[in-house]
Amino acid sequence: MRPSDDLAQKMGEELGGGQILFRPLPPRQRATSACGLSAIKPYPDHTLMPSAARRQSNNASCRHLVLILGDQLDENSAALADFDRDQDVVFMAEVPEESTHVWSSKPRTAYFFAAMRQFAATLQARGMRVEYWLIGTHGCASLVDAVADAMRGMRPRKLLMVESGDWRVAQALEKFAKKQEIDFAVREDTHFLISRLDFAEWAAGYKQLRMEYFYRMMRKRHQVMMNGEEPLGGRWNYDTENRGAFDKKGPQNVPPPPRFAADPITRDALADVELHFGTHPGSLTHFNWPVTRAQALLALKAFIDERLGNYGAFQDAMWTGQPFLYHSLISAALNVKLLNPREVIAAAIQALKQGKAPIEAVEGFVRQVLGWREFMRGVYWLDMPGMREANHFKHQRALPKWYWTGDTGMNCMHHTIRQTLDHGFAHHIQRLMVTGIWGLLAETRPQEMEDWYLAVYIDAIDWVELPNVAGMALYANGGRFTSKPYIASGQYIKRMSNYCTGCRFKPEKRIGDDACPFTTLYWNFLDKHEATLVKNPRTSLMAKNIGRLDGDERQAIRSKAAEILDKLDTL
Ligand SMILES: Cc1cc2nc3c(=O)[nH]c(=O)nc-3n(C[C@H](O)[C@H](O)[C@H](O)COP(=O)(O)OP(=O)(O)OC[C@H]3O[C@@H](n4cnc5c(N)ncnc54)[C@H](O)[C@@H]3O)c2cc1C
Ligand code: SF4
Repeated sequence: MRPSDDLAQKMGEELGGGQILFRPLPPRQRATSACGLSAIKPYPDHTLMPSAARRQSNNASCRHLVLILGDQLDENSAALADFDRDQDVVFMAEVPEESTHVWSSKPRTAYFFAAMRQFAATLQARGMRVEYWLIGTHGCASLVDAVADAMRGMRPRKLLMVESGDWRVAQALEKFAKKQEIDFAVREDTHFLISRLDFAEWAAGYKQLRMEYFYRMMRKRHQVMMNGEEPLGGRWNYDTENRGAFDKKGPQNVPPPPRFAADPITRDALADVELHFGTHPGSLTHFNWPVTRAQALLALKAFIDERLGNYGAFQDAMWTGQPFLYHSLISAALNVKLLNPREVIAAAIQALKQGKAPIEAVEGFVRQVLGWREFMRGVYWLDMPGMREANHFKHQRALPKWYWTGDTGMNCMHHTIRQTLDHGFAHHIQRLMVTGIWGLLAETRPQEMEDWYLAVYIDAIDWVELPNVAGMALYANGGRFTSKPYIASGQYIKRMSNYCTGCRFKPEKRIGDDACPFTTLYWNFLDKHEATLVKNPRTSLMAKNIGRLDGDERQAIRSKAAEILDKLDTL
C-alpha cells in the first residue's frame, strides 16, 4: 500500500468507529503486462499513460474496458468489483468538452483533473492497468470521441461503467453504444444510500414530493439516529435551533480548514488547467481541496473534530472574508466519491455519542447528507430531461455579466461571487439566498443560471446542481418539491450577514436611489405574483404585505424595479 492508503484506512476506521462500510483494500500487486499493454509507470513518477505509451497500447485487445468518469473515483466502485488485472483495463480521459460545454471555472476543472490523476495513480499502484489520457495529449474533443478511439485501439469485448451522474453524458454514451452495437454494461451506483429505482418507487406513493418525508423514511430505513421507530432525542427536526447569525463581533476563532500540500500530480494538473483553460473564470491561487482519499478523510476528520459542534447554529450565517465558517467542505470529495456518505454519517453520529457535538448540529448535518443529497439525486433522475427545460415563470433575462467577475456594487453579491471564483465554493445559504434568489427576483432565464452554477463550483455535477438551482433557487419546476418560491428582501441578508454594512445600498429601502435591488425586486415579485402567493398558506402573509400598500407605492416599486432590470449589468 502507498503510505496514504495506510493513512486512509487507519483514519477511516477511527472516524467510523469500526462501522466503516468499506471492504478491506485489495492487496497491492505488481503490474504485469496484459492485453499487450506496456507496463504503466506507477506513482510517484506520475507519468499517467503518456501518449506514446497510449499509441503502443492501441494494438491490444482486452476483456473489459472499465470506463471511470471524473466523479467516479471510488476504489470500491461496482465497476471494479470483478476487475481482472490480467484481462481488464481502466480507461479515464480528460476531454475539453467537459470543461467547455459550460464555461467551467479553473478551480472546478482543476479539482476534477487533480482528483482523477491521483485516483489513476492509486489504481496503477495497485497493479491495475490504467489507460489515462491527459488533456492535450490526444485529439478527442468529447468523452464519446475518446471512448470510441480507445475502443478502436483496445477492442474490448465489453465496455463497462457505473451509472453516470449526468443525464447528458449517460445519453451520449448509450447512443454511441447502440449505434456501434457495443456490449455495454452500466452498473448501479452503490455509493448512494438509495437506488434510482427505489427512489422512484418511494416517490410514486406521494402526490407532492417533500424532502422531509423522504428524510424520515431514510432515517428509519437505515436506522440512523433512531430509537426504534422514534427519532433519537424525540424530534426529527432542529431547524429552529439551526438558524443563528453572528453578533456584531462576527465569527470568533473559527478553525481554518486543513491545508493540503500539492504534490507533483496535483501541481501538474493545476498547470495543465492554466495551460489549456487559461481564459476560463476563477483563480487557482487559493486551491486547497482534498484530491486524494487520504486528504478527503483528513478534511472529514478536521470538520468532525473542530467545526461540527457549531455547524448547526451557524449553518445559515454569512460573513465578509469568511468563506468556510463551520461548514464541512466535503461536498466535492463526496461527489467524486473519495468519501462515502455512510462513513460521513457514521463519523457525525460517533461525534454525538462521544459528546463532541450537540444533537442539533449532528441532526442538521445528517439531514443534509442523508436527506437533501440523496433526495436531490432521486428527483434529478425522476425528472430528467424535463427539469433542464423547466421555466415556470417564463423568465428570459440574461445573467448579469458580473456573475463572472464579482464586479458589482451590491456587496453581498460581490463577496459571494468573488469567493466563488477564488475558491470554487460558497455555502448553501450564499448559493440559495444570495446568488440564487437574485436569479429568481431578476427574472433570469433558468438555463443561464444553471450553466453558471455548473461552471463555477468545484462540487458541481449535474445531478446535484440542477435540482438545487432549478428546483430550490429558481422555482423553475413550479414547486415540484418545494412548497413555495424561496424569496426574501435585503433585510434577510442583513439579518444573516454583515454584507449590508459595507454596501452603498440600504436593505430596508425599496425605492429611491439607494434602494437595495434585492428589496425592490422582492416587492416587485410580490406585486406581480400576489394572486398566486396569497392562496399558498406559506406565502400568504408576504402577499398580504404587498396588498397593504397603496397604488402610488406599488407603482413606485414597479418603476424602480423596471429601472433596475433595465441596467442589470451596471448595478
Ligand atoms: C442553488 C444551489 C446550488 C447548489 N449546487 C450544488 C452543487 O453543484 N453540488 C453540491 O454538492 N451541492 C450543491 N448545493 C448544495 C450545498 O450548497 C453544497 O452541497 C454545500 O454548500 C457544500 O458545502 P459543504 O460540503 O461545506 O456542505 P455542508 O453545509 O457542510 O453540508 C454537508 C453535506 O451535505 C450535502 N448537502 C448539503 N446541502 C445539500 C443540498 N441542498 N443538496 C445536496 N446535497 C447537499 C453536501 O454533500 C454537503 O457536503 C447547492 C445548493 C444550492 C442552494
Ligand atoms: S444592501 Fe442589499 S445589495 Fe447591499 S449587501 Fe445588503 S442585501 Fe446586498
